[in-house]
Amino acid sequence: MQKSKHYLYTEVLAKRILPGDMEASAIQQQLHRLEAGFAGEMKLKQTLSDHYFKTDHHIFYNFECMNDNGFSHQMDTILVTPYFIVIFEVKLLSGVLFYKPAQHEFYRIHNEKRENFRNPLDQVYRHQLFLEQCLRKWQITIPVYFAVVIANQQAVLDESLENFPIFHISGVPNFIENLYRNTAKSHANMNLIVAKLKKLYQSLPPRRSISLNRLKKGVLCKECDYENVMVYHYGTFTCGACRAKSRDVLFETLYHYRILISEKITNKQFREFCGIHSLQAASKLLVRLGLERHGTKKGTYYIIPEKISEWKRKRERKSL
Ligand SMILES: [Zn+2]
Repeated sequence: MQKSKHYLYTEVLAKRILPGDMEASAIQQQLHRLEAGFAGEMKLKQTLSDHYFKTDHHIFYNFECMNDNGFSHQMDTILVTPYFIVIFEVKLLSGVLFYKPAQHEFYRIHNEKRENFRNPLDQVYRHQLFLEQCLRKWQITIPVYFAVVIANQQAVLDESLENFPIFHISGVPNFIENLYRNTAKSHANMNLIVAKLKKLYQSLPPRRSISLNRLKKGVLCKECDYENVMVYHYGTFTCGACRAKSRDVLFETLYHYRILISEKITNKQFREFCGIHSLQAASKLLVRLGLERHGTKKGTYYIIPEKISEWKRKRERKSL
């Protein structure tokens, strides 16, 4: 299952934000929310992977796209069958959940504290309206349903939620079976729907940006939870605090740069971000890293590839 660009961005930002930054703790909290959301989606994926479907089906996880009004849709899971489509919204909430339908107010009581939430039913209803409109445009007739799935077993759903499509993750197989039983059997072209949705899909950019001066610079030590800087010496980076050594850590540093700043990097930007002072050493390193090079003289820049964090310095023959 793919993480959204926003998730990848927040993951790196949490490692790189200066500890004294006014947003540092808010960014950590946001990362925890994204991690919880992802864990919830993984649970739903497990449940659906284990389900015995009566027909062909196709499942999209973390489906992102834009609508005609220029607004985005981020749907946790879309299940497509020949008879119906279901949009699942996964929530990993704890406490007791309540609903006031006339007011569209969704809240929970947790540790004796009452907290209002963005209404997940309304959230997924918006996706339903959008998908229905798309299908009309594509001249495909098929019903679209939705459900809010609670991925935390400890959460308690109050009776006020009884008449709404919101339930624990264990209820998903039953929900799907009921749709098979109760939906009129008009057969839609599932492959066409899947192809149209694939065309509609568009990976959304991160929902924020950050200026370079709010970030920690240098090659940061993973062993020290990205708190300490590693020093470059004879082809190896060594942590100033825990003495951990690494040759591959530079790829991770470049990955951070790509995610937070840009896929293009000049020699100067490379030296500043990675904390390498010598122009010569930086030039040699950039060549040896094997990054794609563009431009000439002062306009020279390098492209950091998408999968750089998976690279290893195998091809290196000897240290500098
Ligand atoms: Zn360290």
